[in-house]
Amino acid sequence: MFNALVINKADNEYTTTFTSVAESDLPEGDVKVEVLYSTLNYKDALAITGKSPVVRRFPMVPGIDFVGRVSESNHNEYKAGDLVVLNGWGVGETHWGGLSQKASVNGDWLVPLPASFDPKLAMAIGTAGYTAMLCILALERQGIKPEMGKILVTGAAGGVGSVAVAILSKLGYDVIALSGRVEEESDYLKSLGASEIMHRDELQHPGKPLAKERWVGVVDVVGSHVLANACAGTQYGGVVTACGLAAGMDFPATVAPFILRGVTLVGIDSVMCPKAKRLEAWKRLETDLDVTKLQNIYTEIGLSQAQGVATELLEGKVRGRVIVDVN
Ligand code: NDP
Repeated sequence: MFNALVINKADNEYTTTFTSVAESDLPEGDVKVEVLYSTLNYKDALAITGKSPVVRRFPMVPGIDFVGRVSESNHNEYKAGDLVVLNGWGVGETHWGGLSQKASVNGDWLVPLPASFDPKLAMAIGTAGYTAMLCILALERQGIKPEMGKILVTGAAGGVGSVAVAILSKLGYDVIALSGRVEEESDYLKSLGASEIMHRDELQHPGKPLAKERWVGVVDVVGSHVLANACAGTQYGGVVTACGLAAGMDFPATVAPFILRGVTLVGIDSVMCPKAKRLEAWKRLETDLDVTKLQNIYTEIGLSQAQGVATELLEGKVRGRVIVDVN
C-alpha cells in the first residue's frame, strides 16, 4: 500500500481524498517510479478542487509532474535506481499522476533528472518553470534579444511568472513584472530580477486595439484582457508568448497589433511538447536559471496539505512554486 491523493466522481459528487492505495491498482506502464517530490501547478489545483474539467478519467491521482527514482523498468532508456522527471503527457489528467508515493508510467514520457539539479530543485522548477523556459526559448527563436527592448511577464508572482522573471533577468533582459500583488510582492519580484513592477489594473480592463509600445516581448500566463492589452502594447516586430489562462480562456483582442506592427503571437504547450524540446528546455534551465533564487521561489508542503493549498493557489494567494514532499 502507498499514500496518494485520489479524485473520484460518482453521482455528480466530486471528491478528493488523501488515502492509501494498493500497488496492484497502479495503471499500466513500463517504468515504475518511487516518487520523491511532486508539485502543485495551477492545473493541479483545478483538478484537486474540481473547478475545471481537468480530470477525464476516474478514479484519478492528480499531479502533472514528479521527480523520482525508477524501481522497475522494461524501457530500454531506464534502469532501476535512475532519477527521472516527468512533466505533462496527460499525467494527472488521464493517467495517474505524481501526487502519490508511487507511479507507473510510459518510459517515453520521462526525461533523466538534469545532472546539475537535485530532485528537490528540479521540482522547485517543475512544470511551471519548464514552461517558463519554453516561452523564453520561443522568444529567442523569434529573434528577440535583450538590447531590443523590455519583456513583460504577467502573473509574475505565480509559478511560471516567478521562474520566467528569474531566467530573463539572468539572460540580461529588462523585465517588467505585472502583478495583482504589488504591495506584498514588489520586493520579492525585484529580488528575482524585475526592474519594473506594474499593477495588474493597468492591463486587466478592456483597452485600445493599439497602445503605446512598451515592450518587445511578453510571457503571458493570464489570458483574457491582459493578453489582449499585452499584444496592444508590444513594439513593432515584437513577440508575445501565451501559455496560460489564469484570468480566463477568452482573448478579447483585435488583429491590429499583428497586421499593423507585425507582432507575432506564439502559443506554448508543455503537455505534448516533443522530447527534444523538453531536453533543450531542461538543459537551458541548468545554465540560465540562478538556482540560488529558487530558495525564495518555493515553499514545501506534505501530501495531506495539498488540498488546502490548491484552494489558496486558485485564489491567487500563493507565491511562486509549491513543492509537495509525498513521503
Ligand atoms: P499560479 O497560480 O502559480 O500563477 C498564476 C498567477 O497569475 C497568480 O499568481 C497571479 O499572479 C496571476 N493571476 C491569478 N488570477 C488572476 C486573474 N484573475 N487575473 C490576472 N492575473 C491573475 O499558476 P502557474 O504559474 O502554475 O500557471 C499559470 C498559468 O499558466 C495557468 O493558467 C496554467 O494553467 C498555465 N500553464 C500552462 C502551461 C502550458 O503548457 N501551456 C504549463 C504550465 C502552466 P499575480 O498575483 O502576480 O498577479
